[in-house]
Amino acid sequence: MIMTLMRGRFAPTPSGLMHIGNARTALLAWLHVRQAGGQFVLRMEDIDTPRCKPELAEQALADLRWIGLDWDEGPDVGGPYAPYVQSERLRDYEEALRRLERDGRLYECYCSRAELLAIASAPHGLGSEGPAYPGTCRNLTAEERARRAETKTPSRRFLVPDEPFRFEDLAAGEQRFPAGCGGDFVVKRADGIISYQLAVVADDAAMGITDVLRGYDLLDSTPRQLMLYEALGWPAPRFAHVPLLNGTDGKRLAKRHGAISLASLRQAGVAPERIVGWLAAMSGLLDRPEPVSAKELVPTFSLSRIPKEPVVVTDEQLSALTQI
Ligand code: GLU
Repeated sequence: MIMTLMRGRFAPTPSGLMHIGNARTALLAWLHVRQAGGQFVLRMEDIDTPRCKPELAEQALADLRWIGLDWDEGPDVGGPYAPYVQSERLRDYEEALRRLERDGRLYECYCSRAELLAIASAPHGLGSEGPAYPGTCRNLTAEERARRAETKTPSRRFLVPDEPFRFEDLAAGEQRFPAGCGGDFVVKRADGIISYQLAVVADDAAMGITDVLRGYDLLDSTPRQLMLYEALGWPAPRFAHVPLLNGTDGKRLAKRHGAISLASLRQAGVAPERIVGWLAAMSGLLDRPEPVSAKELVPTFSLSRIPKEPVVVTDEQLSALTQI
């Protein structure tokens, strides 16, 4: 039997400072790969260029290294699948678009801009892209299309097959979605920006990623991504979506909860081992927070130890992190 080497990745979007929630996903993705003796790839997802900043990308790399993570390939170390920065990979995405277009998997959509917001960013939160697209532009006649094209540049949507969809998630178990799940989705915006869904698939496929571990907020993007793999004839990776760290209001831990950035913890003099220990305790990998290096967690890491439900982080727990 030929065993393929596990290849995993962490793919931050440099539109804000890396906070403990992002760091925790990075740590788990890294442990998953390192435990299996695989290769870890770091990719910068700056496809939504107006929202991203090069200095935040630099900072993200520095922050991740500071908590003890390393990568075999990435923007700063290079590798066989370079470049590892989405804004430099546009040719690949255009090629994928051409193939989908050629195979009749896309159509032009003239719907309003309001409906198309947030398409390039990863949709954080189940259903956060809004209600399913009702298919308004699916069956326009050639005349209607020509008429609309006079006043508006269209976006491109992927035609979602009208059948139920299922996949097996390594962390969250079997997932079932109703026919048409989420509706036909945008792969290229009217302003020319490629959607997160297409870019992430083109990159993971090109970079030979076998395992995607990421937050549960991206779980309902997965059927879309698997449909793109299928349409493009590319082998799909395995997926593991881990439950999020939530605030006491039940919402994903974010800045408004005081979700602390790694940069500010570092500035405050908190040791990285303390942060890693805290993250490990919040992820079922340690009984209680105690300083530990990322490397020390590798031998005992297992997906099965990660809780199946979102982890609620209390204010006291958050402040414990900053008390040095
Ligand atoms: N770039 C995405 C984010 O910042 C992650 C995409 C993924 O892991 O598929 O959330």
